[in-house]
Amino acid sequence: MTTHKIGIIGLGKIAQDQHLPAIRANPNFELLAVSSTRGLTDHDAQYTFRDYRDLLGLKDVEAVSICTPPQVRHQIAREALLAGKSVLLEKPPAATLSELEDLRHLGEKQGKTVFTTWHAQYNKAVGEAKKALAGWSIKRLQVTWKEDVRHWHPGQQWIWEAGGFGVFDPGINALSIVTRIMPEPVFIKTADLEFPANKDAPIAATLQLQTGHADGDLQAVFDWRQTGPQTWDIEVETEAGFALKLSHGGSCLEIDGRLVVQEEPAEYQGIYRRFDALLTLGRSEVDDAPFRLVADAFMIGRRVQVEAFED
Ligand code: NAP
Repeated sequence: MTTHKIGIIGLGKIAQDQHLPAIRANPNFELLAVSSTRGLTDHDAQYTFRDYRDLLGLKDVEAVSICTPPQVRHQIAREALLAGKSVLLEKPPAATLSELEDLRHLGEKQGKTVFTTWHAQYNKAVGEAKKALAGWSIKRLQVTWKEDVRHWHPGQQWIWEAGGFGVFDPGINALSIVTRIMPEPVFIKTADLEFPANKDAPIAATLQLQTGHADGDLQAVFDWRQTGPQTWDIEVETEAGFALKLSHGGSCLEIDGRLVVQEEPAEYQGIYRRFDALLTLGRSEVDDAPFRLVADAFMIGRRVQVEAFED
């Protein structure tokens, strides 16, 4: 087994909190280089660049993890694939569905791996919820994803800009769990999107969802104005009568009130194990299901203007 020599592009919060430790903990990866527009570095990296194009010029780099904001991911990923590198795409994988489709095609053409990462799916509780729901019709789904944007996204202006997704930046994590666990396709029926008067992205959203069973009561509520206790819960009730609840962002699972899984999240370890397997097999994994729900919400969403918000 040869180790994968990897580079990280964009040394922001998620790269520092999760990617660097996960790469360090996986013996099948070696961090060869990082690129940071601010000139940050990491002691494990042999090379540091300010311009990611210089990183892409390193012959020995097999793959790059693109940890920038989504607005610039497509351009960087495109150049990486053209330079013969495989790509790991942080979520959301691009700014638009058509950009992602372009990357999928380019990956195929170049014979390189394209990997869309949906970190919330890498919780054991999510896998167990999927198994429990398999084959059942869903009567009720309630997604409640409410957090304090000032606490979780300090100084991140890109989240408020067009293509930054606003409250869908965390909301897409909930939707990635929904698309993973639901036994049949889910689609958006209505969406109310609350835009602060001074921002180009929503601060809150309420979605009505549906499956082929039109009588289900399926709803998702996202809100970035939550102070005090934070809520990342998904409750599901089946026609068969049993109910389950995923809480703490998908790391805990209760079925009919009984705790079934409670684990410290190890999402990024799971992501790099999967990336290792995909690189070794020379395969891609491009899952656009959560991204499609967000795109649809923006496509049919009713825009509601709310009071200006200062971070
Ligand atoms: P962040 O702290 O703002 O970091 C993004 C970094 O990307 C910046 O610090 C900058 O790092 C680099 N960058 C910015 N603009 C760039 C450009 N035009 N070209 C190249 N690099 C650029 O944001 P983050 O929270 O890490 O989020 C990044 C991505 O990870 C987002 O898509 C987000 O949804 C996802 N994510 C975040 C979290 C989280 O908890 N924060 C969790 C999971 C996934 P340098 O100055 O070092 O280049």
